[in-house]
Amino acid sequence: MRRRWGPIVTGVALALTFAVLIGLGTVGPGADGDDTSPAAQGAPAPPSWMRKLDAGEKPPQFVLFSFDGAGSHDHWRRILPLAEKVNAHVTGFLSGIYLLPDARRGEYAGPGHDPGHAAISFGGSEEEVATRIADLNDAVARGHEIGTHYNGHFCAGNEPSGGRWSTTQWTAELDQFFGFVRDAATRGLLVAEDRIKGGRVPCLEGDFEALAPAMAAHGLTYDTSLTSEGIAWPQLHNGIWGIWEFRVPVVRVPALAGKKVIMMDYNLWYSLNGAREDPSRDKEFTAVTLDTYRAAYQAALNTNRAPLTVGNHFNDWSGGAFSNATEQFMTEVCVREHTVCTTYSQVIRWMKLQDPEVLDTFRTMPPAQVT
Ligand SMILES: [Zn+2]
Repeated sequence: MRRRWGPIVTGVALALTFAVLIGLGTVGPGADGDDTSPAAQGAPAPPSWMRKLDAGEKPPQFVLFSFDGAGSHDHWRRILPLAEKVNAHVTGFLSGIYLLPDARRGEYAGPGHDPGHAAISFGGSEEEVATRIADLNDAVARGHEIGTHYNGHFCAGNEPSGGRWSTTQWTAELDQFFGFVRDAATRGLLVAEDRIKGGRVPCLEGDFEALAPAMAAHGLTYDTSLTSEGIAWPQLHNGIWGIWEFRVPVVRVPALAGKKVIMMDYNLWYSLNGAREDPSRDKEFTAVTLDTYRAAYQAALNTNRAPLTVGNHFNDWSGGAFSNATEQFMTEVCVREHTVCTTYSQVIRWMKLQDPEVLDTFRTMPPAQVT
């Protein structure tokens, strides 16, 4: 059975993130400060935390808010002012076909799939795509970052899914993603191709050994699709591909008797009620999710200070419970002392400023655990 236009089939119990809604992501790095791209000319000075640590100094507690799909106008309108208010920068992982109007869906052929088919919506009308391009431009101008959530969102059950793709197939997927970005540039998109430096694969499904060479060939330098038990420092993949891995933490959820869950919106929802729409429980779901985020943050802050990845989609699942939790968390955490809410590329930049031995010291600490 193949679901073509509906929500993604959630195959493997845990990891499924998906973006049913159209959502566009944020744009390039830069925002926090000194970016040397032409687009950033006139940008403010680098933030005060963008420097080498003093001897014995602890790292800032980085929090990486990221939104898969990144195409929802409503959600961009919510996140952009909120982020500005609390001095946060976020990363949007754009589904490339959100830049492709429905009338042109035939221009996308997912690896192993017929042209014009995907597990999520295409871009909608020309007008909707134009609105989305404006949202993305606004996000980039404000210093947010855009990465890739690839295109067709083919997850387990919608075969051949990303988990089975070869390097050749991932290359075709990324070729098309960048093709859509280039095409949108002719319609006003200002997200520079070379500022798209990383991504998250749909449903966290993919054979990294197959994916990594395709990423490297497209100039991507980070991934945030693999998971870790607890909150761990980013690491270069074996040093082979030059790709940083920012792992999505698996943490104990206090409200679920300590059950361990991949800390992403969909996975939390799945663990709460099998990911069934139940707006009557929205406040409860928001509270459980918020408590999980708070506990994970505190665990990292108190121990290894590993950057905390908060992975989400722009979604309104179960009464908006998960978006509400994320926005609330952003509001309270990003203004805290020693805390920096920023983008993946900015954290990579910060890591490169550090003495490698100092970073190794943190890296060898056990991942932070919610107890
Ligand atoms: Zn997704």
